[in-house]
Amino acid sequence: MKRQYTNKELIFSALNNERINAVPKFFMGTAFLAQQAGVSSKHFEEDQELYVQTNIEFSKKYGTTMYDAGFYADVKEQISDMKIESVIQSIDEIDKLECYSIAKSKALDNIAKKIYMYKKNDSSTPIYVGVRNTPMLVAELLGVASFYKKLVRDKRLIEETSKALEPILFEGLTKIAEAGCDIVWIPMPTISGTCISKKSYVESCHVYSTRFIEKIHQLGMKAIIHTCGKWNDRFDVVMQERPDAIHLSETNMSEFASKYGEQVCMMGNISVLNTLLYGEPEDVYRESYQSCMEAGRYGNYIVAPDCGVPANVKEKNIEEMFRASEVAARALYS
Ligand SMILES: [Zn+2]
Repeated sequence: MKRQYTNKELIFSALNNERINAVPKFFMGTAFLAQQAGVSSKHFEEDQELYVQTNIEFSKKYGTTMYDAGFYADVKEQISDMKIESVIQSIDEIDKLECYSIAKSKALDNIAKKIYMYKKNDSSTPIYVGVRNTPMLVAELLGVASFYKKLVRDKRLIEETSKALEPILFEGLTKIAEAGCDIVWIPMPTISGTCISKKSYVESCHVYSTRFIEKIHQLGMKAIIHTCGKWNDRFDVVMQERPDAIHLSETNMSEFASKYGEQVCMMGNISVLNTLLYGEPEDVYRESYQSCMEAGRYGNYIVAPDCGVPANVKEKNIEEMFRASEVAARALYS
């Protein structure tokens, strides 16, 4: 008889790269869920009770296996006016980071409240928090355009800002772990292959991304890297960072799976824009089924959209993505 797992056992087994022979479901879509709840995204994120309730209802309806407790990314917000594009432009300005106070972080407070509410309702479903890692936050503080220039012309500024940010971010991760988070989800759109060269990534980001994941592991949590954008030329580098899962986008699933499927839990790759937003239900079904069959043969694939789901995606498309994964799981494992 097939063993019955709790969501936590199922996801942790998958993240430990065991053959789970199931296709767990993951969903991320604050904008979509806010629309369902009939409020703006901003209101939704701040109204912890509504947020948690809506996520729990969605999870019950579709059988998704992880709860979303929000995003920790308020360093820039706290130390400056968000309208300023570039908060740090030179080594002297790194001092501005000294104004950041973890105790005053509204984002951390909000996350802790959400985690508490989820756990009160159900302690057997793992909880994840999105966090901008060190290079992503450096890019935000330098301003994205300036960050790209400095990657070529002023690597020292990037290096020094990264070093100064690490203790702040590690303290944030510690608070997140203490609040009861199980998994940290790390999106990397600004530093993907769509935006910077592999050389720049290796020289200025890789060490800090690696240390960020090491810290997550030391704190007893799991790390999911979201390679938001193209990453095909640098999967070898990201694999050295030892993520517990890779949440893929814009990737040839079959190629990725045959190369890395034995080594790491795979997630995602169902196109949010081309398929979920602009496709018909049968397109969604086809893509989702195919992804599940290609990655699922390794027994460690989590079906998921390739990024956050926008508000105006048709609910029928979400249904079809998950229905296809159930059909594929039966074909693969029963
Ligand atoms: Zn993304």
